[in-house]
Amino acid sequence: MAQEVCGLKAQLREKEEEIAALKNKLAQLEKSRAASVELHHRVMPLTPLTGKAALSNEDIMRYSRQLLLPELGVQGQLNLSKTSVLIVGCGGLGCPLAQYLAAAGVGRLGLLDYDEVELSNLHRQVLHGEENQGQAKALSAASAVQRLNSTVECIPYHLQLSPENALQLIQQYDIVADCSDNVPTRYLVNDACVLSGKPLVSASALRMEGQLTVYNYHGGPCYRCLYPVPPPPETVTNCSDGGVLGVVPGIMGCFQALEVLKIASGQGSSCGQQLVMFDAQDARFRLIRLRPKQASCAVCGENPSVTRLVDYEAFCGSAATDKCRKLNLLSKEQRITVQDYKSIMDSAEPHLLLDVRPLVEVDICHLPSSLNIPLSSLEERKREHLQLLRERVSQLKHQMAGDCQPPVYVICKQGNDSQKAVQILEKMSGSEVDRVTVKDICGGLTAWARGIDRTFPQY
Ligand SMILES: [Zn+2]
Repeated sequence: MAQEVCGLKAQLREKEEEIAALKNKLAQLEKSRAASVELHHRVMPLTPLTGKAALSNEDIMRYSRQLLLPELGVQGQLNLSKTSVLIVGCGGLGCPLAQYLAAAGVGRLGLLDYDEVELSNLHRQVLHGEENQGQAKALSAASAVQRLNSTVECIPYHLQLSPENALQLIQQYDIVADCSDNVPTRYLVNDACVLSGKPLVSASALRMEGQLTVYNYHGGPCYRCLYPVPPPPETVTNCSDGGVLGVVPGIMGCFQALEVLKIASGQGSSCGQQLVMFDAQDARFRLIRLRPKQASCAVCGENPSVTRLVDYEAFCGSAATDKCRKLNLLSKEQRITVQDYKSIMDSAEPHLLLDVRPLVEVDICHLPSSLNIPLSSLEERKREHLQLLRERVSQLKHQMAGDCQPPVYVICKQGNDSQKAVQILEKMSGSEVDRVTVKDICGGLTAWARGIDRTFPQY
């Protein structure tokens, strides 16, 4: 009996060693395979894409389920192999889009992203894995796509699309998909597509809603025809501010893939004159007919004023990334640093800390003894919230005695909403509430987590 146990243990050890060796070998192979996709840091001229003259037996097997569709058929499949698609942004929209385009057999995929993979991306950017954190998103996406279909040519670009490189890049592709999440990039991609005559399949997703349109396609409008003037930067919300349920960009990215495949295979898209709106809450799609191409459009109209790419960050008044979206609404005297606030806190100096984030964010994390009144409540002058504020200010005044103006420090996630709140509170001071001295805490709780308390959660 004891001998049998010993024997089994030995066998088990042997198997475990064998498994470890296999795992090691697999990891090595995967690593070398990932490395075989070369990352591009600038735009280079590509060799022309020839596509397939006929389908191989392997192609027939791989694509058999879609070849059976009369809407696609052999000709449609061959057309896909001759088509190159540029995906601008390998995030929540770009990941499912790239995945389905590669799976369907598009000839060449350009995958562009300036960013690296982070843990907070993974709930929606499903081509990347935990082991890809810190890696260029374009490379991570290209490696994943190559594992799915090694016959698709993948070109990962780790760079920021700019007025200097956009035309040269976009001219080399047949169809462009905008999967970016900021306004300057949308105008840049649009103008580059109009100037190079390429259809633009554009989508967006935020919170529980998504949108999709095909621009500059078969005489339809371009993005500028519909939005000649960019929105004020402070009215634009992105996923890192507003949040998004991962499956929503997933659905919209799949929708983009569908329209790209219809255009590439020769069926054509029906989204050139309409906006598709997806409401995840009600599980409903709505189609809105768009106004037609405008003769007065600055880029695709009869007398265009935009005949080359311009400075889109200046045009939109905001940065072409979803990072460093920093508003600057206040003077230096109206702001303090997180270090300043830390010493105020430590010295137990009487003050009011006002957290103006929505309740859902306060539930994630907050500083002790902060009073939560969301910015929206201040903007709308919500009665019960104003009453609460009045009470706290008057308590503070009582506590401080004398004739001074109680200090109010305003905080939010990144220090943008808090600046708007300071402006509102300054208007209220002395009229709707007792006189107060209001200051913004620069950089908000993100700066607090980075500069003061490393254990404070970041989201
Ligand atoms: Zn236009």
